[in-house]
Formats: sequence, structure tokens, C-alpha cells
Amino acid sequence: MIPYGKQSILEDDIEAVVDVLRSDFLTQGPAVPRFENAVKEYCGTAHAVAVNSATSALHLACLAIDLGPGDTLWTSSNTFVASANCALYCGASVDFIDIDFDTGNLSVSALEQKLEIRASKGQLPKVVVAVHYAGLSCDMEALAGLVSKYGFYLFEDASHAFGSEYQGKKIGGCQYSDLTIFSFHPVKIITSGEGGMVLTNSAELSERIQRLRIHGISRDVAVMSEPSHGPWYYQQLELGYNYRMSDIHAALGRSQLDHIDQIIQRRNALAHRYHEKLSNLPLQLPVSLQDCTSSWHLYVVRLVEGETEVERKALFMALRKKGIGVQVHYIPVHTQPYYQQLGFSWGDYPQAEKHYRLTLTLPLYPTLSDAEQDYVVQQLRIALSA
Ligand SMILES: *Cc1c(COP(=O)(O)O)cnc(C)c1O
Repeated sequence: MIPYGKQSILEDDIEAVVDVLRSDFLTQGPAVPRFENAVKEYCGTAHAVAVNSATSALHLACLAIDLGPGDTLWTSSNTFVASANCALYCGASVDFIDIDFDTGNLSVSALEQKLEIRASKGQLPKVVVAVHYAGLSCDMEALAGLVSKYGFYLFEDASHAFGSEYQGKKIGGCQYSDLTIFSFHPVKIITSGEGGMVLTNSAELSERIQRLRIHGISRDVAVMSEPSHGPWYYQQLELGYNYRMSDIHAALGRSQLDHIDQIIQRRNALAHRYHEKLSNLPLQLPVSLQDCTSSWHLYVVRLVEGETEVERKALFMALRKKGIGVQVHYIPVHTQPYYQQLGFSWGDYPQAEKHYRLTLTLPLYPTLSDAEQDYVVQQLRIALSA
């Protein structure tokens, strides 16, 4: 089976992990800060905090702004459930924004309308989580404009967008946002096995997230409520978690970063090949935007209604039967049974639902060969003409 996404591990990645296994520290050693420093340098950000997943990163980011009961987080419905669940972990509520159909990203105009209506009722969100779908940046400058008008925190869920750029700068630099979250799950752009990271230019948010990552514990005498008892002393100042990344994971992530340029180059080359080879099929291909370059986490095509009789499910099944591991991104989060229980229903966000009905993710990862990609194209062509 040709999967839709997959890690590429080189010999030096393996050596980096083995080096940690032979060293004194499997966790809480030097590999984690080394990875953090490398990522913040790459992205041009002041602070980076590594954790054991992007889901943990989202949770801690919400805690760090004191999101809690009575507060609301808004995000796109076209995302993985984790972008929304993080609010519920904190006892806050979730609401969704429909997408811009062209990009699959949250619609700035839908957001603006919703803010205007909710502002008059005193129901503004505390935070909006912008998800850079498939690797293409949201319109961050427009979102920042809404932040200055309505005053909410702006997070970037950049799980798809490590190495992508917006206005000529790497995503993760947080020019327009309070913080950015990356995932290092194996299907993402670079991997640490499992892992995530928060990037921010705010020293305050960074310190809070570091403390929440280790049980809410601090060894900093400046923040203690009584004089230190001695060198062993620490204080738990709030309720945190064990969301640490291990040195084993961090060494892998750090080593992967050495290959980031080749990874992005190959992903772009494959995306261009898809563009060329699929342009005469009844499919809507991914758009490009002037302000953005994408790392191409996903190559997402959509059936064009009226131009083909083939249903997405039939297309999916036909390709799977040929050993092609196509996927669907995403089932709109608001339609998940858990979210329906909270009051959402089908019909709430029509563009996200239409996208879901028509969409298919094709295989794209650095070690996908030209021949394998040609096979995908050939089978797609056959399935579409069936
Ligand atoms: C993968 C992903 C996550 C979760 O990442 P983990 O590291 O697996 O926790 C969150 N948001 C989006 C958009 C993702 O694609």
C-alpha cells in the first residue's frame, strides 16, 4: 500500500537517536533544549517549548492564557479534533467558523461576521485557533486586524505547516499571533516519533507553558511563596502535567531538521508533478496564494460537481483496491457525535461539509518515487472515467 503520508528517516537520524541511548540522559538532558533552540532559530522566534504532542501543546497554550469555564475558543471545522478539544480540556466551550472553500482555511469573512454578531451579545471568543490547512497559511494579517478590533488571542495550529512561509517569513515566527503550535507526528513535515512544540515571542507565555509542562513546578526562587529550603527545593504553584518530550524524541526531531530543505523541495516537486498531470481531470486542484509558500503536508483534490458522476466514496474505494492509501481530511469536527451532543449539527457549516463530501487526499511524502506517483495518477484517471 502506498500511504498518504509517511516519515523519511535517514541514517544520521538513527545515529542521533542511538547517541542518546548511549548517553547519560534519556529525558531531561541536553537534547530537548538543543531541538528547541534549532526550531526557534529556524522559525525566527524568541521562545520554543517542546512537549510530547501537538495536542499537549494546544492544551498548555489554552491553560497559559487561563482559558476556562465561561470562555470560548473558536476554530475552523475543517481540522483534526485536537484543535477544538483543547478548549474542552480546560472547561471552556468551543465554537466553529466555516471555511473559505478555495483554500480549506477558516473564512476571514465568516469570522468577521460572527465576531460582529457576537460582540453585540457580549459573546466574543477568548482565543481563535487558525489552522493552516494542508500547509497553506491562513490570512494572518487580516486575522490580526480582527484581533485589534475585537481583542482575542490568536493561536496558529501549524501542525501541517512546518517550513511553510507567509509574507516571506517562516510560519512559527508569530508576527501576527500569540503563539504557534507544531506537530512532529510521523505523517507531518518532520518527526520526533511523537512530539509537538509551542513557539512564541512572549516570555510570559513561554515560562508559563514550561512550568505547566512539568506539573506546575518551579525551581525559581523569585516566584516562590517562601524562602527556599535548600538546593533540593521546588514548589508546585499550579496544576500542571507531565507533557515533557524525551531526549530520544528530541534527538530525532533535531536531526530531521538538518534535512528540512530537501524534504520541502521534494514535497514541492511532487506537488508540481500532481498539478501538471492532473490538470485535465475533473478535479479541483489545490490553490496557491501570492503571500504563501507551502511545505505541502497534504495534496488535497476535490471532485467537481457536475463534471463527473463518480462519487468520492467510489473513487476512494477504487484507489484503495489498487493499493493507494488515499485519505479524507477532514470530517468536519462539528459533525462528530461528541460535538453533536454539545449542540452542533449537520448543516451548521455548509462549506466545510461540502469540502468533506468532495475531498480526497493523495499520497505525498518525500520518499514517494516519480514512478509511484505516476501509478497514482494513472489509477486516478481510470477511476474517474469509470
Ligand atoms: C496532527 C494534528 C494535530 C495533533 O498532533 P499530535 O502531535 O498528534 O497531537 C493537531 N492539529 C492538527 C491540525 C493536526 O493535523
